[in-house]
Amino acid sequence: MTAVPNIALHDGTSIPQLGLGVFQVPAEETARVVSDGLEVGYRHIDTAQMYGNEEGVGEALAASGLPREELYVTTKLSNAFHRPDDARRSFEESLRRLRLDRVDLFLVHWPLPTLYDGDYVSTWRTLAELVEDGRATSIGVSNFEPAHLERIIDETGVVPVVNQVEVHPYFRNEEVRAADARHHIATQAWSPIAQGAVLDDPVVTKVADQLGRTPSQVTLRWHLQRGDIVFPKSSKPERMRENFDILDWELDADQMAAIDGLDRGEDGRRGPHPDQFDYLPE
Ligand code: NDP
Repeated sequence: MTAVPNIALHDGTSIPQLGLGVFQVPAEETARVVSDGLEVGYRHIDTAQMYGNEEGVGEALAASGLPREELYVTTKLSNAFHRPDDARRSFEESLRRLRLDRVDLFLVHWPLPTLYDGDYVSTWRTLAELVEDGRATSIGVSNFEPAHLERIIDETGVVPVVNQVEVHPYFRNEEVRAADARHHIATQAWSPIAQGAVLDDPVVTKVADQLGRTPSQVTLRWHLQRGDIVFPKSSKPERMRENFDILDWELDADQMAAIDGLDRGEDGRRGPHPDQFDYLPE
């Protein structure tokens, strides 16, 4: 089987370009889902404090017996914990739940510019401390618009290694991808198949028919050829296998262009706009 490509990050580390996301996987199912994913071959798991399922991820990682260096684990800071002391404490709790002494990647999940007096800079500085003490190998951000990126970079000099944002054929999010590229930040595409919404699009199904592949496979392959990092979520082993089988074939330039043409700009966005999003968990 073709190996998952690694993407080099600007801090000298690298990340598997294809992983498994566990957003909306119920806590009680997560250990089973992650164990199934590891069985299929996924080695990169994307979770978050707000998903409420880090314990299940930790249980599956521990049970797998896989060497730590073969695994790549990302978690994200809860919107509730942006104040530096809360961020430090909650990060320790994440490590405990994940049964790890370090994570590969820790992200600020949302910038929350309308909360915390607009201060996401001290939050970002706190994440940088976690790299210095070795408990986070790399740090990055999620849902940061170009202005949010500029601000943390200008005020701290610390450049995130990734920016995890909504990207799929209906919302290519090119402005953010271009800002990421200017700073050598890798883009991670969340909801890469738009939670299923692109799978019955006639353009996608036509390309799938041409290649004898499924709509999910051609959409994920489109992301890989654009250079983004993806971690489609599925709870079903057969879909996990389907989504993993995208490494040894490709879309040609016309097929890439056809899918590019599905972009609806802002109208294609499915999630909230990061400038306005102000959700705080209980
Ligand atoms: P995805 O685009 O990965 O779509 C997941 C949905 O598609 C699920 O309903 C799944 O159902 C279904 N699905 C998966 N594979 C197939 C397939 N081959 N055929 C048909 N249906 C399929 O959405 P997500 O929103 O989960 O995004 C992926 C990951 O990105 C998340 O899990 C999370 O890690 C991250 N994310 C990050 C965000 C952020 O703010 N940083 C926001 C949102 C997501 P089923 O499970 O039943 O197979």
